[in-house]
Amino acid sequence: MAHRVFFSTSTQSHNAGPRGYIEKKGMEAICSQLRSVFDLDRRFFFVHSSHGLFNVLGPQLKEAQGAEIYIALHSNAVQKGTVAYYFSSSVKGKHLASCLFKHLAPLSPGRDTGGVRAHDSFWEVHMPPMPSVLLELEAHDWLRGVLWLTGKRKTIAKAIYRGVCDYYGLVPKPAIIGTVKPKPKPKPKPPVLDPEPPAIPNVPFPPPVPPREVLVVYLPGLQTSFELTKSDFWVSFLTRMGIRFEVVTK
Ligand SMILES: [Zn+2]
Repeated sequence: MAHRVFFSTSTQSHNAGPRGYIEKKGMEAICSQLRSVFDLDRRFFFVHSSHGLFNVLGPQLKEAQGAEIYIALHSNAVQKGTVAYYFSSSVKGKHLASCLFKHLAPLSPGRDTGGVRAHDSFWEVHMPPMPSVLLELEAHDWLRGVLWLTGKRKTIAKAIYRGVCDYYGLVPKPAIIGTVKPKPKPKPKPPVLDPEPPAIPNVPFPPPVPPREVLVVYLPGLQTSFELTKSDFWVSFLTRMGIRFEVVTK
């Protein structure tokens, strides 16, 4: 059975940053990259909900039913860099937070020491019945943070994928994380200098011959006859020369 992984994206459309950044939209964009990454690995089943933090008691948890792990995606303010929050008494939650942090923190530009932290008062940390992590990927109130959150979505998605693989003790698929060597390009074929003649169209064999009108001409003066075609030069020649001839057969 595939591991059912649930992603919840922030509903905070009031959290804004430079260049028109909105937390809700930013997290949904990263989540769609996550879907395309996880959909390539049949060991996982990807579930996403954007009902978010404040609906965690209702539709959010209903959609999370059957999921093995719960990951909430957020961007932060004030504190730069990645922070991974887990429920203090959840050993698995802490492990998941560590796995995700390990792959994200070296990539995110902020260097504040957020780290891996227990934070039980977050709803998305203490409500889900499965191991859960709330990720603050990076702060959105500074330009470098926003440029990373919006410009490196695929990289962020792959880092989260690596973290989830680590949590399960699975090896990430090389084709997904980009460690497969690209196939050598085939050498271009030399141009064909002596191309094959075009195929001869299918004609019935033997080709039909138009019937020829044949005249057998008798020359009384020479007491001899010739076979001539009607269009033959000789017919007009004999006529022009005034030589008497008779058509014997046609
Ligand atoms: Zn948030």
